[in-house]
Amino acid sequence: MNRLRRISFLLITLTALIATLFFSDGSIFMSLEAKDTFVEEAWGQAGSIAYQAAAKTMRSRNGQSYPLSNSQKRYLRRYFIDLIDRVSVVYSATMMDQWVVGGRAVRFGSVESAAQTYCDRIYLRDAYKPDDPIQLMILAHEMVHARQCEQLGGFDQFGYRYFIEFRRAGQIYVRNKMEKEAYDLQKRFAKTL
Ligand SMILES: [Zn+2]
Repeated sequence: MNRLRRISFLLITLTALIATLFFSDGSIFMSLEAKDTFVEEAWGQAGSIAYQAAAKTMRSRNGQSYPLSNSQKRYLRRYFIDLIDRVSVVYSATMMDQWVVGGRAVRFGSVESAAQTYCDRIYLRDAYKPDDPIQLMILAHEMVHARQCEQLGGFDQFGYRYFIEFRRAGQIYVRNKMEKEAYDLQKRFAKTL
């Protein structure tokens, strides 16, 4: 599947190059639509690589992860019954302050600077604070990303999709469809606290 995607990306690149050679008078390189698809695909590919690299860096920078505590599970069960036993959390984590995607720095929004999720592993900047509503809200937000990762099929697919959506959102973090989903649930969850 991933291989297929890479091959088709190479084909698109090749087609673009050939088109450039044939239309070198500069009048038509690619239709705007094709250019858009090409740029999105490039973001997806670069994002996938960046996300997987960041996951490795975070893992090597930080120590042990812990299962959710019973108290956290009690709060989160309502929305994440299928997921609460599959994620683990690293507390007091050394965070990354940005992602570098295709040579460009991508800064995080407010939640992601305090917490980041790499599929089933959630990193929190703060220490464990049982019953703390802010920490629980952040966890709820991050759990949405853990679920997205699981549903999409892992690190590669999540990174790919996340950065395509980031590009579609005009590179504005909060407008990313995948962040919107996380913030929506976070809001609903906050009302249950
Ligand atoms: Zn988020």
